[in-house]
Amino acid sequence: MASREEAENAIKTLLSYIDDDVTREGLLDTPSRVINSWDEIFSGYNQIPAEVLDSTFNGEGYNGIVLLRNIEFHSTCEHHLQPFTGSAHVAYIPTDRIVGISKLARIVELHARRLQNQERITKDVADDLETHLSPLGCAVIIEASHGCMQCRGVKKQNAIMTTSAMRGVFFDKAEARSELMQLIRD
Ligand SMILES: [Zn+2]
Repeated sequence: MASREEAENAIKTLLSYIDDDVTREGLLDTPSRVINSWDEIFSGYNQIPAEVLDSTFNGEGYNGIVLLRNIEFHSTCEHHLQPFTGSAHVAYIPTDRIVGISKLARIVELHARRLQNQERITKDVADDLETHLSPLGCAVIIEASHGCMQCRGVKKQNAIMTTSAMRGVFFDKAEARSELMQLIRD
């Protein structure tokens, strides 16, 4: 992996591809600011799903849907390094153990704060819930708008991409899926 200094120098090179004067005041500290912001934007690489989802509680027999909806997230498209932002809806039906509700948001963050595509975030969040909670079913629906489509290429400002991963009863049973969709829309 590149060192911090190498990364800052690389940003400086990229800036000089865009602007003739990288020594002007406004650009002088830009390489260090960019790397600082990347440390935050890509902090998901330092997190491990097993650690995020490890604190579970006795579900005390609860066997309905647990849904956290409208989890806003910011991610970065790995093809263009453009941001994409949107909302994730994450649901599961516990068998025995329930997880702290904020962990559902944290697992979305863990995957969003990496170089990504929307399909992979959707699938990986569902995989993690399946692996670490062994639920009766789990579901992840993500709606996002993509910077790489808004400010370049086809330039569509209002297009929203939706992806979904349905596992267990949400995949097998139409009733479970329609109850979930009802809860998300309410
Ligand atoms: Zn893109």
